[in-house]
Amino acid sequence: MRTAVVTGGSSGIGRAIAERLRKDGHRVAVLDLNPTGEEFEYKVDVSDRTQVDAALAEIRAELGPVTILVNGAGLELYKRFHNIDYDTWQKVVAVNLGGVFHCVQAVLPDMLEAGWGRIVNISSSSAQSGQQFMSAYVSSKAGVNGLTKSLALEYGPSGITVNAVPPGFVDTPMLRRSEEKGLLGGTLEDHIQRTPVRRAGKPEDIAAACSFLISEEAGYITGQILGVNGGRNT
Ligand code: NAP
Repeated sequence: MRTAVVTGGSSGIGRAIAERLRKDGHRVAVLDLNPTGEEFEYKVDVSDRTQVDAALAEIRAELGPVTILVNGAGLELYKRFHNIDYDTWQKVVAVNLGGVFHCVQAVLPDMLEAGWGRIVNISSSSAQSGQQFMSAYVSSKAGVNGLTKSLALEYGPSGITVNAVPPGFVDTPMLRRSEEKGLLGGTLEDHIQRTPVRRAGKPEDIAAACSFLISEEAGYITGQILGVNGGRNT
């Protein structure tokens, strides 16, 4: 049994990951903007280092050193590039990439001390394909993939693996919000027909990949970007 932190763990993909890691036998703490009130959920904006450090101090005191981190918190933005003001761009990058920076730095001392760690970053298949009207989001997620590969090289010798899972088309509140606003580029059904396995992804599909990457037997896998996307952006 280890202590895991899942960011964005109160909704959608992050929530399924937190549930899966609990089933796998880990002690799980969640950092999220809007916690649902469950035990070991902390109200934290991952782009705010002071909040991240304060939550980590509490988590360590309650659950022990953190040796598993899944960065799932994410913020989407749909806007034509020439209409994005720089503050808005910075906000998306601060949450999606800066949040990973802060959380990884906050847990690394525990992992280095243990000589063992697992970090999984939830990026996005859009970083492989590009996505119109989502340049800030896609850029931040491409940054997450680059950071993942670099950290894998730096911390492999310390027993820490770092991988990314870019989801594609997973049925979550984020996806449903996009559909409601007509921003999906077609209906859910249109997308299902464009997906080789002919269904939308489930949050549990992403959680299963995370569970594997976190397991002992995945210790020789690091620096990888494991697409879980029904065959969409392979
Ligand atoms: P979701 O249901 O909206 O969950 C995202 C969670 O992150 C929410 O609980 C959200 O809180 C939280 N969050 C947002 N900003 C935060 C911040 N600054 N600090 C802490 N928590 C914050 O979306 P999802 O679809 O499960 O997405 C999970 C991850 O997968 C995201 O990183 C997303 O970019 C990525 N992803 C999803 C898909 C997909 O098809 N669904 C595809 C590619 C990538 P609030 O709800 O309070 O804002």
